[in-house]
Order: sequence, then C-alpha cells, then structure tokens
Amino acid sequence: MKPSASSEPVSGRAGPALLVAQTSFLGDVVLTTPLLAELRTSLRPRRLAVLVRPEAAPLLAGHPAVDDVLIDDKRGRDRGLRGLARVARRLRRERFDLAVSPHRSLRTALLLTAARIPRRVGFRESRGALLYHTRVPRDRRRHDVERNLALLEPFGAPLPAAPRLHLAVDPGAAARAAALLPTGPEPLVGIAPGSVWATKRWTPTGFAAVAAALDAEGARCVLLGSSADAPLVEAIQAASGGRALALAGRTDVATLVAVIDRLSLLIANDSAPMHVACARGIPVVAVFCATTPALGYGPWGAGHTVIGAELACRPCARHGGQRCPRGTEDCMHLVEPAAVLAAARRALAARVRA
Ligand code: SF4
Repeated sequence: MKPSASSEPVSGRAGPALLVAQTSFLGDVVLTTPLLAELRTSLRPRRLAVLVRPEAAPLLAGHPAVDDVLIDDKRGRDRGLRGLARVARRLRRERFDLAVSPHRSLRTALLLTAARIPRRVGFRESRGALLYHTRVPRDRRRHDVERNLALLEPFGAPLPAAPRLHLAVDPGAAARAAALLPTGPEPLVGIAPGSVWATKRWTPTGFAAVAAALDAEGARCVLLGSSADAPLVEAIQAASGGRALALAGRTDVATLVAVIDRLSLLIANDSAPMHVACARGIPVVAVFCATTPALGYGPWGAGHTVIGAELACRPCARHGGQRCPRGTEDCMHLVEPAAVLAAARRALAARVRA
C-alpha cells in the first residue's frame, strides 16, 4: 500500500473514520501493529489510516488492518509550527471522526487538535494530554505492546489473549533481498550493530568477535544497518576477518524486512531490527546496554534471548542516551562476546531441533 491522502471510505464498513497517530521511531511502529489489528476488529472503522514518519510507511504496507498510510515528515518538510499547521490542514480535509494516539508527544496532541478531529484518545502521560478527550493510563511496568493495547479500553474492546506483531514482506523487496543474499550454507545470521542512541550500541569489537566465531563454525553472517551505520559495519566486517556480507545502506526499509525474514537468527541491540525480527518470527539474541527490557521494549514473543551487564546504573535513560552519564560505558564494555556467542549457538541449535 502506497502512502495515500485518499478520503474515500472503504465500502461495507459502518464504523468511524479512524486515524492512529504513531510518528515515533520504526520500532515503535512495529510495536503498534497489534493495536491496529484490534482496532480494526473491535471498531470496524469504515476507514483506518495511520500517520507515520516517511521512513516508517513501508512497515505498514500490506497490513490487513490498514487502509491508508499518511505521512508527517516532522523532521523534514513538515518540521516546525508551519509544518504542523500544514499537516493539520491535510488531516482536516480527511474528516476523521476519531483519533487514537499511542504517540505521547506534544506535537501529536497539537496536530490532532488542530486537525479538529472530534474525538481524540491518548495516554494520560502524554505531553499535551489535556488536548485528548479520553486519557488512558499507561502502565510503565507493561510491555509497550500491552501499553498500546490499553488504548482499546475506552471502547470496551477485549484485550487479545496473545497479541501478535504483524509486518508483511513486500514481494518486490523479497526479490531484492534474494539478490543481495546469494545462496550459501546455512545458517544465515544477521548482525545489526546500530542504534539511534550511542549508549544502546554494543561494542564493535564484541560484534566482530561473535561474527568471526560464527563464521569459523560455518555460519554465513550478514551485517545490517542504515547508511549511517555503514562506517560501523565496515569496521566490524574488517575486524571479523572480512567474510561477513556488509549490507548497511544497501537496503531500504522494505528490503531490510525481507532480508531479516530470511535469517536463521538476528543478533542486535535494543533497536528497530530486533522488533522487525520478532514480527517475522525470527529468533533474536539482543544485547541491551543502557536500557533494559523492563522499560517495555524487549523482544516480543517466545524464543528470544536478552543479554546485558548486571549494573546498578542500568537503565539510565528510557531510550538510552548519546553519552554515558558516568563516563564509563560499562554497560557496553562488560557484555562478554562469549555470552552472546553461547546464546547464538543455543538459538541456532534450537532452530535445528525445531
Ligand atoms: S550510566 Fe550505566 S547504563 Fe548508563 S550508559 Fe553509563 S554504564 Fe551504561
């Protein structure tokens, strides 16, 4: 499904024209997908559109609950107050009846208000919460999937017993992934060493040691990331002996999803690729540095492993930060490659048995 600004209702549905606003990071969009499915089932909206950043739009293409993906380029051409007013005008023309916002920013609350959406539901802890008509408590102790699903409560909708993430693989992207990943011996292990936040990145030497060891044991390793991660990936590739395939910057978001879909295992930080792998049912070994799964962003589902250093200072920030406030970076340096490697071996062995 292409990003769209269509205002045409989907025929045969009697419910509200619903907008879900989630303009946070890619991983947050993945963690919103169970809410989208439940809103579709419970409210039977005549139209369900999702507002996301441009880079997140491919994640929702093919989601069966979603009719349209709308764009708020809040870091680009829609940034600032003028951009907000422009997006609000676009949304106003769409004549939504209802907005549900798992995103807690002041900008989102202002945007939905300026768009004159007559019923707005958001979290009580949102900035600008007073601009929502219905404010839902957000339980910090729950996983973010469950926190998002709490937004169903004002509608009397039952919570699903086993919520599932949903990401479709685009056929074109699958073909591009196949071309990037020439056939070779199994297992195919993905390594995603990047993160937007510096204190969430495990050490390049750690990733390189794991890649070298897995390569020596017969695995094919592929290093994943955005173009911003390319220098990091190249350094890891060189340090690991040069045999890992470096794809950082060579995959758009849809192709990254398709590449991850072909993996036997993903080794990653607390980052978007980790959530993508969970959505595609790929086992994950996740290294958590400055953050912890208790913050609600751990790998969703069964069969995943989280590794982190036992430190009193963890977590030091909800998203991690760009600098270690103590200046030690212990949460990065004290994670042993041997622990990550052992978890990877266990995950691969479990996969073979399955
Ligand atoms: S304060 Fe602790 S958890 Fe935070 S970055 Fe530094 S070592 Fe890591």
